[in-house]
Amino acid sequence: MAPKYIFVTGGVTSSLGKGIICASLGKLLAARGLRVTIQKLDPYINVDPGTMNPYEHGEVYVTDDGAETDLDLGHYERFLGVTTSQENNVTTGRIYYDVIQKERRGAYLGQTVQVIPHITNEIKSRVRAIGDSGKYDIVIVEVGGTVGDIEGLPYIEAMRQMRYDVGRKNTLSIHLTLVPYLKAAGELKTKPTQHSVKTIYEIGLQPDILVCRAEIPLDSSIRHKIAQFCNVDNEDVIASLDAESIYEVPLLMREEGLDERVIEKLSLETGPLVFDDWIAFVEALKKPSTEVEIALVGKYVEHKDAYLSIVESFIHSGAVNNCKVKLRWVQSDNLRPENVEKHLSGVSGILVPGGFGGRGVDGKLEAVRFAREQKIPFFGICLGMQCAVIEFARNVSGWENAHSSEFEEKTDKPIVDLMPDQRDIDDKGGTMRLGKYDCKLKEGTKAFQAYGKEMIEERHRHRYEINNSLRYKLVEDGMEISGLNPDRDLVEIVELADHPWFVGVQFHPELKSTVDKPHPLFIDFVGAALEHSKTNKKKRNKAEA
Ligand code: GLN
Repeated sequence: MAPKYIFVTGGVTSSLGKGIICASLGKLLAARGLRVTIQKLDPYINVDPGTMNPYEHGEVYVTDDGAETDLDLGHYERFLGVTTSQENNVTTGRIYYDVIQKERRGAYLGQTVQVIPHITNEIKSRVRAIGDSGKYDIVIVEVGGTVGDIEGLPYIEAMRQMRYDVGRKNTLSIHLTLVPYLKAAGELKTKPTQHSVKTIYEIGLQPDILVCRAEIPLDSSIRHKIAQFCNVDNEDVIASLDAESIYEVPLLMREEGLDERVIEKLSLETGPLVFDDWIAFVEALKKPSTEVEIALVGKYVEHKDAYLSIVESFIHSGAVNNCKVKLRWVQSDNLRPENVEKHLSGVSGILVPGGFGGRGVDGKLEAVRFAREQKIPFFGICLGMQCAVIEFARNVSGWENAHSSEFEEKTDKPIVDLMPDQRDIDDKGGTMRLGKYDCKLKEGTKAFQAYGKEMIEERHRHRYEINNSLRYKLVEDGMEISGLNPDRDLVEIVELADHPWFVGVQFHPELKSTVDKPHPLFIDFVGAALEHSKTNKKKRNKAEA
């Protein structure tokens, strides 16, 4: 079967959840046996989001092949349970970069290089490359931004052309829009949607299906009105009401019949919908038998998108443990020896996530010390693991000056340091240790217990490493190195044997947790936190008795 393309655009405003709609539709089609992938087209001029700060962009999602990408790719992987790669995220920066390089090589044979056709052709070739790979029946193409944005125009034009290139019957255009409820008028308003559809019409793309975000249900008269003014059938007006959890959205879309409309319009041949596991997962989310509180100690706590994959991983691993993980967001800049107890008292687990730059590191070191000394389950991720090692080197091994050379270049005990191959790199974009690397686990450790096997692969995004010439001291003093990269002998996982659960990982496990396969380390960390909260409760009850 020739691949079919579904273009998803957004109108009226940003933040309507286009990525979740794409992932939900993808899930519903994949659950019928179709091979589905999703590609995100981002209209910004950065080559990738790797150099943007978390306030601008939220988390940078990293793929197996080491691409630094938009966080929507994380949703695609978590929903579909398949891996994405560099080709799943295209940016205007990347497109122009490649077109300009081709121009410098003389590839355009003396032509004037223009937005149309050269930029639009480059966009189309990126989309076609996925479709033509033969790996997928359906390519969902999410166009970032909002219709009407100047920078989005080449993308919409490319989609318009593609409908003719690959045949209209092989493409579908879905437009996500907002139908606001005006309290004063007591009614839903369709005008913004009409305008948005008119705008996309002007560029030549006719939406086949409208997905309407709304706070209250759309009755049949509103649906009819939208259909009539936007040239679609009544059944092609799909309501998307606010959901408690993003994982409910596939269920809501199924109720609204989005997948069926798509199947009919694209004449898809599918198997039956196999969806029970997803439903069971959503039910487990809704009825947790208990709750456990875990502190997340980071510097972007007011901007939770910076830690999106971690938050989602806790949702997946909470469901496995039959509990809801309640996160206590702790600003690391505020933590000091004298207030750490106040900020962290009562939590059943402490997670220190990844990060860059020195701000907040002292606070993170305090959080690690508190977790280690109070025997509270601890999970350190990337910078969080580096902090665990620094804290241990200082307070257990007695190397007072131990630090990462990222934060103190001149320290005489650079327990975390740059590898020689990173020393002469000046460019910031795409130059870290990125993507999938092997890790060999040591038997009898907590890591081995979690994964249940010796060889694993995890994704990385960092420049600094545990210093191989100083790591002997950590081992001498009781820190266990439970995971090593076999090719370069780099420390991947450290843990403490005389602690209920203290694990630091140099990689980012949160990038691989999906609904189908919650991450084993998160599952065990939450399990340890539950155990901690039970023992604590017992202790408290005894003390009160
Ligand atoms: N800043 C640290 C490094 O580059 C950690 C990076 C991270 O936590 N992702 O090694």
